[in-house]
Amino acid sequence: NINLVWFRNDLRVGDNPALFYAAEQGAVIGIYLEPVEQREAHDDAPCKIGFIYDSVNELRKKLNKLNIPLHSFKVKDYQQSVEKIVQLVEQYNTDGVYFNNEYPFNERNRDDELEKVLLGKGKEVKRFDGDVIIPPNSVSTGKGEPYKVFTPYKKSWIEFHKTQGISPLPIPSKQDFKIEKQHDYDFGHDYRKDLWPAGELAAQDRLKEFLPKAGYYKEHRDIPAVKGTSMLSPYLTVGAISAKQCIESLLEWYEGDQEAFYLDTWLSEIIWREFYRQIIIDNPQISYHLPFKKDAKEVWNGQHELFEKWCQAETGFPLIDAAMRQLIQTGWMHNRLRMNVAMFLNKLCLIDWREGEAFFMRHLIDGDFASNNGGWQWCSSTGADGAPYFRIMSPITQSQRFDPQGKFIRKLVPELASLNNKDIHFPTSQQRKELGYPEPIIDYKEARKAALALLS
Ligand code: FAD
Repeated sequence: NINLVWFRNDLRVGDNPALFYAAEQGAVIGIYLEPVEQREAHDDAPCKIGFIYDSVNELRKKLNKLNIPLHSFKVKDYQQSVEKIVQLVEQYNTDGVYFNNEYPFNERNRDDELEKVLLGKGKEVKRFDGDVIIPPNSVSTGKGEPYKVFTPYKKSWIEFHKTQGISPLPIPSKQDFKIEKQHDYDFGHDYRKDLWPAGELAAQDRLKEFLPKAGYYKEHRDIPAVKGTSMLSPYLTVGAISAKQCIESLLEWYEGDQEAFYLDTWLSEIIWREFYRQIIIDNPQISYHLPFKKDAKEVWNGQHELFEKWCQAETGFPLIDAAMRQLIQTGWMHNRLRMNVAMFLNKLCLIDWREGEAFFMRHLIDGDFASNNGGWQWCSSTGADGAPYFRIMSPITQSQRFDPQGKFIRKLVPELASLNNKDIHFPTSQQRKELGYPEPIIDYKEARKAALALLS
């Protein structure tokens, strides 16, 4: 027996169901396809593409140790991806293809199309759910309907997880297979390799580094100046680590104490990730850029210039500008800041949340359709279990609360570093002039009033 394993957002050998079960059947040929035009259409950031390329190379090294080759090719889009896989199945005369599901709409359509064509040719198609801990559609409301609210979803998720006892799969055993020359399509890009070393080992190291801090997560996770979160999101996005592996280690950290484990805040965040995946499956309109709430008020008539200033980190609000600089300089932004900049753009500048969503995707190394869309719709109150419309974070109060000594601001906006702990959150006009820092682009109180009048 011989099978193709098509790697996509699962660039790892551990806990990879498609790889594991294909290897159980016999020889495996690994394939990676880079869909160049599709990436543009999906606004994928160059840093994310570069990170994927390096992750593919790291995966190849790991696979080769198991005597499994990994060929990578360029394709135009998902239509060509289907054609290429069919061609490779025929070229290598494999029994079929194994892959792990991706849940956004275009990806599901692509996979359904591939399945149809290959089944028509008498080939096998085996699909797995390697990107999530519990398979989609495992839980539903008492009425058998999909969940729209996080807390009851989480409750059912935990009940399901308890009964299933789902643990990660091991690395497959070494194959009897001689590796011929491998195709390598170089789609590398520059990114902050110092911050985001690629590959499965780097991801495991990062998890190990985080776990001793897990006990402080609840307390530290909202403070951007503290490295209190795992910074595993880019690795989860490309699948260099699985969510199952993450929480298995968390349970070990709790020495198997299930009660404490299920109450853990970090686990809860990973469940948010699963919730947003379920949401995009149940609500395909989201993939057409429509709001989750069909009757959501969309009143975004802000001036384009405000959007430009936000993109350039020149809003004149230190916390917002520091956050946007973090995104542009590193490809990542702290979660508390993602919420702040999103609400600032959408509710205070009245710019369509989709503009912000696309800008994020064009710059994030962890850009993930489900989580990014979920985050933006949560902030704009158009989403599943979103913030109430009147929840508008004040960029000044949030700055005083979560960066009280301005440590984060001082690092990212060094021109303000000389200000005292009070002024750094909102400098006076005189200070702005002296330090070359812009005037605020909006009047916070007026903007808030205007937003509430439009949204109520
Ligand atoms: P940790 O706090 O260590 O959390 C562990 C993991 O849980 C994360 O790596 C992530 O996979 C998941 N997670 C944590 N918070 C959330 C959340 N609110 N929603 C979904 N999953 C979560 N996350 C992305 O991975 N990609 C995105 O494109 C993305 N865009 C966002 C846009 C907005 C407007 C907002 C408000 C949030 C967005 N998030 C996104 C969620 C969250 O901000 C990041 O996952 C988190 O900041 C990543 O840092 P971390 O790995 O240190 O997270």
